[in-house]
Amino acid sequence: MAHLWVPWRQNHGQEKETGGPEWAIASLGDDAGVFALTDDPREPVRVRGKGRNGSAVAYIVRQECRQSDTWILQSHETERIRVNGLPLVAGIRVLEDRDEILTRETGRIFFSTERAPKVEPFPGREEPTPCPRCKGTIFKGELSVKCPKCRTWFHQRPDMGCWGYTDKCALCDQLTRLDACFRWTPESL
Ligand SMILES: [Zn+2]
Ligand SMILES: [Zn+2]
Repeated sequence: MAHLWVPWRQNHGQEKETGGPEWAIASLGDDAGVFALTDDPREPVRVRGKGRNGSAVAYIVRQECRQSDTWILQSHETERIRVNGLPLVAGIRVLEDRDEILTRETGRIFFSTERAPKVEPFPGREEPTPCPRCKGTIFKGELSVKCPKCRTWFHQRPDMGCWGYTDKCALCDQLTRLDACFRWTPESL
């Protein structure tokens, strides 16, 4: 799933400790298609239709595609929103990884499509699914990792760590670290 980096204080609705992290992650989860950016610092992002706090400044809409999702920023408030410093022409814009969204209500937030790999039971498919590392079949329910970048499944059982066998995915340049570190954060700007 994609996510937003929001100023830490907004995400938690309280003063930031000195020296604490500057940015927090607000997930654009897999189970919804439309998210609202709100003017409520306690809930800067919410699934459309859920929650009552704050009014929506803009919407982020997921268009599901076969290979990768497309994310679109929509708002009627074209004067009050900047993406990478430019106004929202025609009230709509396709978001790209690391785009900066700026509104008076939300401050500076960043959109990111980077995903962290996670271990989960293989959901199963109709066709037998081969693991690119060991060439064996991945069976439904087996602990596995889906590469967040190329979307290929690998075994990741305690006795069969095909995903973590090397430091990069066998088929692309995704790092295999599982400690959920994102490679990019706004702090690297
Ligand atoms: Zn394997
Ligand atoms: Zn990969």
